[in-house]
Amino acid sequence: MRARESLARRSGTLPRMVSQAVAGACRCGAVRLEIELPTLFCAHCHCTICRRQHGAAFVTWVGVATERFRLRAGQECIVWHASSEHGRRSFCGRCGTALLFETSRHPGRVDVPLALLEGPIDRPPQLHVFFDDRVPWVRVDDALPKLGGVSGLEPLEG
Ligand SMILES: [Zn+2]
Ligand SMILES: [Zn+2]
Repeated sequence: MRARESLARRSGTLPRMVSQAVAGACRCGAVRLEIELPTLFCAHCHCTICRRQHGAAFVTWVGVATERFRLRAGQECIVWHASSEHGRRSFCGRCGTALLFETSRHPGRVDVPLALLEGPIDRPPQLHVFFDDRVPWVRVDDALPKLGGVSGLEPLEG
């Protein structure tokens, strides 16, 4: 049956998959999620809130349209809190994994840490934001654009 299906697909009698989903999870596995490609962006964020929330030098975020994000399990484990005037963040109440970010500045979008995803996405990281807030103990010398300033998205001098 399976062989026949793949043969039919190869010969063009079955429609190709129109979307591609990438699964993800928190460290303990209670929270399971899925995003559907295409994504909106992929960026390294060096802001203080991201660094502290994730206990990391910086956080690599993948932005997706809300309708392309699906929670597969663990809704009851997700704890939300306001992280700024416009943003809210969540974590797994069982294992503490930092999960999602949402902001009223970009309604209809949810940001997912790339590190939670189990498969490749449709783009590599594209830029650094809040780069002037970066830690001094990690050297970043790639060729990606490095933005900062108050908004985190302004071109930096030098
Ligand atoms: Zn968990
Ligand atoms: Zn950040």
